[in-house]
Amino acid sequence: MAIDSSNETKPVVRPSRSAEPDRDAIAKDLHVGTGVQSKRLPKPEKVDGQSRILWDYLIPVVAFHLLIPVALTSYFFSWWGVLFLPIGNYIFTSMGIGAGYHRLLTHRGFDCPKWFEYLLATLGVCSLQDSPARWVLVHRVHHQHSDHQPDPHTPKVSAFWSHMGWLFIENRELSTAAAYDKYTRDMMRDPYYRWLQRGLNWVWVYVAHAILFLAVGFGIAATVCETSAQMIQFGLTFFMWTVVMRTVYTWHVTWAINSAAHMWGYRNYETREDSRNNWLFALLTNGEGWHNNHHADPRSAQHGHQWWEFDFTYISLAALEKIGLIKNLARPNHSALDRKAV
Ligand SMILES: [Zn+2]
Ligand SMILES: [Zn+2]
Repeated sequence: MAIDSSNETKPVVRPSRSAEPDRDAIAKDLHVGTGVQSKRLPKPEKVDGQSRILWDYLIPVVAFHLLIPVALTSYFFSWWGVLFLPIGNYIFTSMGIGAGYHRLLTHRGFDCPKWFEYLLATLGVCSLQDSPARWVLVHRVHHQHSDHQPDPHTPKVSAFWSHMGWLFIENRELSTAAAYDKYTRDMMRDPYYRWLQRGLNWVWVYVAHAILFLAVGFGIAATVCETSAQMIQFGLTFFMWTVVMRTVYTWHVTWAINSAAHMWGYRNYETREDSRNNWLFALLTNGEGWHNNHHADPRSAQHGHQWWEFDFTYISLAALEKIGLIKNLARPNHSALDRKAV
């Protein structure tokens, strides 16, 4: 998405100018709501009659969804394809989006070598959920204004808006150079994230990974299939489930954190928005659904706070900390959280 520099606004959140972002400032600045509002909200102010429909988002999302009934035909349907969905979700989305884009890049919940940060970010790119800088920008705005104007995707506008509607209409608040400077200065200093942000580079990375999966599928087909018809069917089925259906599946479980986890579930903490702990989407996202816990302590890389709140993404990060790959894994600040307990 292009950055429009014509609509500059005065920065409010000012990440540190040092090489490393000021973590306390990020954690503090991401929470300035003024109390839960039960009434409905209009769309964000900068979504109006002048806003463009984002066809470059809408067309691929519609096209991928149109392939769902195709994937369910006897030619393409495969139980191993279905079983791959939670595996692919863990690899690309829990590690890429949950650990990478969210807990690391947005909230700086742990330290790791640059190559590992880039690996996680690249897995996130392969989930086709926007570039890292763009995702971080939207999510930091969400934390700053959760369920208040101008939260980009609150269900107080509508459930559909929060789930996916907000993706398809231009929000001019989120595309200015000023917005990138205000919310993602730490990321825009990084050459890899700047490169991904340029033009459609992040989309080409996704396309490259899809071609790789296609090649792997046909490679396996060449060794296990006897006829060329079987080979073609296996190769296309492999691609359909490991790339297309996996992408659609992971879109919805991730989007449900913005929609379902702000509508349905229980609250451990009194927070300034309507975030909920939603067990279903916590299981489906390997931990992101403990969203009320997350809003209560955004910096913590551990989203499951109670013993039953299973957070496989955090468990994975804790294991990586044990072997020394990551450091300073942020855990819940219990003394601060006790003051917010319901
Ligand atoms: Zn939220
Ligand atoms: Zn967050």
